Amino acid sequence: MFETHIKKYLTSHSYSNLSPKAVLFDMDGVLFNSMPYHAKAWCSALHKNGLQFEEKEAYLNEGRTGASTINIIAQRQYGRDFSDKEIKKIYQDKCDVFNTFPLAKPFDGGLDLVHQVKQSGLTPMIVTGSGQKSLLGRLEENYPGLFKQELMVTAFDVKIGKPHPEPYLMGLRKGDLKPEEAIVVENAPLGIQSSVAAGIFTIALNTGELEDNVLWEAGANILFPSMRAFCDSWEELLTTFLSTTNRVVE
Ligand code: MG
Repeated sequence: MFETHIKKYLTSHSYSNLSPKAVLFDMDGVLFNSMPYHAKAWCSALHKNGLQFEEKEAYLNEGRTGASTINIIAQRQYGRDFSDKEIKKIYQDKCDVFNTFPLAKPFDGGLDLVHQVKQSGLTPMIVTGSGQKSLLGRLEENYPGLFKQELMVTAFDVKIGKPHPEPYLMGLRKGDLKPEEAIVVENAPLGIQSSVAAGIFTIALNTGELEDNVLWEAGANILFPSMRAFCDSWEELLTTFLSTTNRVVE
C-alpha cells in the first residue's frame, strides 16, 4: 500500500533507499490539537484590530511567523506592511486570547505512536514554529521522557520559518541526519512545503479544516486522516520503508 509512495519519493530525489533514524514531529496540529484555539485567537485579534480574516486562513498560514502572517493580511487590506509596534500589538492580542483557552489536548494515538517510534529504534524529535515558553513542560507532561531538549527546533532557533526549509534543515543538523534518514510528520501545507524543500519524506496528517488536496499539493508523500490512523499503520509503514529500495537502472 505504501510502496508506491516511497518509490516515488526515492525516484524524485535520486535516493537509493530511505533508512529512517529519526522522526521529526511538528507540534501544533500533530502532537496537540491546538489549531482550533490558534484559529479562533487569530480571528479575534485581527477583527479587533479592524482586519478581515477567516478561521480557515489560520490553517492555510499555519507555520509562518506571527509577523509574517500579520503582514500578509496588512498587505491585502492596506497595501503596506505594518510597523513593528502594530505587529507587536496584534500579536499580543492574539496571545492574550489564546491564553484564555484551556490547554490543548494531545491527539488520540499520539502517545502510542511516539512510543512505537522509540521502540522501533528511531529518535523522536520536534520541529515547531511555536515559541510558547511552556513548550517543554507541556511536552514532558503529555509525552513524558520521549523528547530531548537538545533535539528540538523551536521559534527561538529559526529566523525565517516555514515554508522555508530552514527549520527542517536545522532539525537534520541537530540530529546529525541526512534527509533520507528522517521522516517528517506535519499537518500544515506550509510545514509540508518546508519539509519537502529540505528533501525529507513527509507524512501529512489531516487534523484540521483543509481539504486533503491542499496537503497533497503542498507535496505530502503520504496522507493519513488522523493521528490514530497513522499510529495504527506505523508498523506496516516502517516495514515498507526498510524493504523498499529503489533499483536505479544503470
Ligand atoms: Mg502544525
